[in-house]
Amino acid sequence: MTTHVRQFLCLKDNYGVLVHDSDTGATAAIDAPDGEAVIAAAAAEGWTLTDALITHHHADHVQGLPALRARYPKLKVAAPAKEAARIGGVDRPLSEGDYARVGRLAAKVVETPGHTAGHIVYWFEEEEIAFVGDTLFALGCGRVFEAPPAVMWESLLKLAALPGSTQIYCGHEYTEANARFALTIEADNSVLKARAGEVATLRAAGRPTLPTTIAAELATNPFLRAEEPSVQAAIGMTGADPAAAFAEIRARKDRF
Ligand code: ZN
Ligand code: FE
Repeated sequence: MTTHVRQFLCLKDNYGVLVHDSDTGATAAIDAPDGEAVIAAAAAEGWTLTDALITHHHADHVQGLPALRARYPKLKVAAPAKEAARIGGVDRPLSEGDYARVGRLAAKVVETPGHTAGHIVYWFEEEEIAFVGDTLFALGCGRVFEAPPAVMWESLLKLAALPGSTQIYCGHEYTEANARFALTIEADNSVLKARAGEVATLRAAGRPTLPTTIAAELATNPFLRAEEPSVQAAIGMTGADPAAAFAEIRARKDRF
């Protein structure tokens, strides 16, 4: 079984991603930020789209669906059950623990409410790949729009518990700005400082900073580190409930 993943930037800073199962030819688009860009990426590989796996209802993740349906009339659209009515035309409404299938590949659905109330993540356990949409970013996390911060914190803990080697694909290329913010929280984190340098080099060369891994995020992402004594000390919240520390870090990022 061979799994191919192709990631491409589209719109301003959105990532489109294709997942291809070479055994069956099945190909899924992870979200649909820009239908024409997704179609072009699939055509460049000689792949025919069979599925779309949607993480959440925001326009920059679903607005390409009409173009994809027009180009691939047999396309099956999977999306969070809680947001299916809002997204429209969903063939496979998904909830926690369900599986989304792409040919012989199977992604376990992990509900991660916070950015939106129904946001889901697709975890291909066997392939050690997770598509996390706008819940987790490299060195950051999504804005918390549709749930209390404590709910988002619980969602991030679910992702933090995935195997450290899991490859993480995110909805946006926000890493460089996220690194600048992360350094305001942990100026003395040497792993973070080294990573910020690598990120700047990649972006200067026009290269993606994703995928990342859970292990890399646990070492450097301030939002996943709200329990760390050094992080809590840095924000003047030593001994605080980690969810409260997370909420404070998120509020600072919103003002950054
Ligand atoms: Zn979003
Ligand atoms: Fe987005």
